[in-house]
Amino acid sequence: MRAHKFPQAAIVLLLLSAVSITLWALLTPSAATGFLQVTFLDVSQGDSAWLKTPDGRDILIDGGKESEGPGLVSYLQSHGVTDIEVLVLTHPHADHVGGLVTVLENMDVDEAFTNCQSYDSATYQEFQELLLDKGIPTTCVRDGDDFTWGGVSAAAVNPPEPLTSDANNDSVVLRISYGTIDFLLTGDIESQAEAQILGRGRIIEAEILKVAHHGSGSSSTALFLAQVDPEIAVISVGISNPYGHPDPETLARLRDAGATIYRTDRHGTIVVTTDGTAYSVQPETSYLYLPFVMKGWPSTPTPRTTLPGSRWHLWAPYPTRVVAWLRVSGAAP
Ligand SMILES: [Zn+2]
Repeated sequence: MRAHKFPQAAIVLLLLSAVSITLWALLTPSAATGFLQVTFLDVSQGDSAWLKTPDGRDILIDGGKESEGPGLVSYLQSHGVTDIEVLVLTHPHADHVGGLVTVLENMDVDEAFTNCQSYDSATYQEFQELLLDKGIPTTCVRDGDDFTWGGVSAAAVNPPEPLTSDANNDSVVLRISYGTIDFLLTGDIESQAEAQILGRGRIIEAEILKVAHHGSGSSSTALFLAQVDPEIAVISVGISNPYGHPDPETLARLRDAGATIYRTDRHGTIVVTTDGTAYSVQPETSYLYLPFVMKGWPSTPTPRTTLPGSRWHLWAPYPTRVVAWLRVSGAAP
């Protein structure tokens, strides 16, 4: 009987593995040229987004914490980035400026955009000194400024002049447009800045929203989200962070606004690619669960088993037991 049972279990395992590997291949993104590609990097609790414009410029917005810097630089270099055309710091907090220090130390940067806020921290001072030492021209971004990078345009809708002196609310907020597809990158603004942006009547509609302040409860008000009307909401957030980000009520507001939510703590690095008329969203790290299956052990049959963390079910035509799930992950080529 044992010799008869094992081959069936092995066949189930092999079939499921084959399906999993096929799905994995379908989920991994391919390199795109002539497209705008926006990569929301998994920098743990922090923010970092890399834009590759259709004409090949590299724009880096924030860099996560200082500890994320070496990983960020090696990620960019391994994806063919030799220099940064535009480096943007949304605001001086450590979870945004830290990694940019490592970038400035290791890569050529043509120009920098910041809010030119005064803020007392050793990391921000180091960032400012590196810009000065390397003679990198720096633009103080304000609401109403417009920039063009190849076929991509960027409209600044925050901060106002004069600044409010609140670091989060003075974040540089850019609405990036390519054709009919828009991205709203909100830094760490909170409800005060959101209300002021609405009060200034700025256009903030965007298909893809980088959710403000790591999904904090004090950001992403229903009024603001109604104007953004996002289809995709990306939250840059660390696993088990001490701030409780993202806030469950913020997640509910995003869902109520009709957005599909992607999170760097769950999906890893998230890549959005657009030709200016349509877009695709692909988590760069695909997690797959490979079942370790035995037939008829223990005695209770389990023909339908839910995959961990998903709505998908594993179905087997005869009494089968999933003994364990093996989680594997793979980076895209
Ligand atoms: Zn932050």
